[in-house]
Amino acid sequence: MEQLNVTVYKTETQIIITGIPQEDDESHNCDAMGCRQEHVLYRFKIVEDENKKQVERAADTARRRTQGAKDGWDIRRGKQKGGAS
Ligand SMILES: [Zn+2]
Repeated sequence: MEQLNVTVYKTETQIIITGIPQEDDESHNCDAMGCRQEHVLYRFKIVEDENKKQVERAADTARRRTQGAKDGWDIRRGKQKGGAS
């Protein structure tokens, strides 16, 4: 197993892994940060936020459905009560 001496940076939109390329690797991603001591080896766009939004939306929908069912139950109970009196 090779051990990589890398540093991981996280911005709001990207995860950037810097280090020293194994070979003179021209495909590494030193664009915005430039070639200095550290080289940008990999750059990942964070898509997790979008997934998170979807999960939150799904959770919200589920919550609303649960609340809706509860409300329906309350309404039904209210009607029963109203009918009894
Ligand atoms: Zn570089």
